[in-house]
Amino acid sequence: MSDNCLFCKIVRGEIPADKLYEDDEVLAFRDISPQAPLHFLVIPKKHISGPGTVGQEDEKLLGKVMRVGSEVAAKEGIKHYRQVFNNGEEAGQTVFHIHMHVLGGRSMNWPPG
Ligand code: AMP
Ligand code: ZN
Repeated sequence: MSDNCLFCKIVRGEIPADKLYEDDEVLAFRDISPQAPLHFLVIPKKHISGPGTVGQEDEKLLGKVMRVGSEVAAKEGIKHYRQVFNNGEEAGQTVFHIHMHVLGGRSMNWPPG
């Protein structure tokens, strides 16, 4: 847990979120600024700053983040979606608590800008 981390505050219930899935290890909630008809984030409750600091002990947890993202997308009726992690400011990371974006419900170009 990190005192000033926005997503740790969501985990602790200090900031509200539109939750789609929660258990003792992970949380999925809608992105506050959706970039697609379906856009939510999946985070581990454990504070990890980003993809670049995932340790060997976190490998199973991050696999779960991916599985939960897929299951929530399916529950929302979306079969085609993108799962994205940003690492570092130049790659678009603004919140330094690892999160996986799940975007779907519209066609998307590859590669992204
Ligand atoms: P990134 O730019 O990859 O670090 O993604 C951070 C994401 O968090 C952005 O898509 C924001 O719209 C989203 N975000 C920021 N604050 C909140 C919040 N309070 N609730 C839900 N999503 C948020
Ligand atoms: Zn955090």
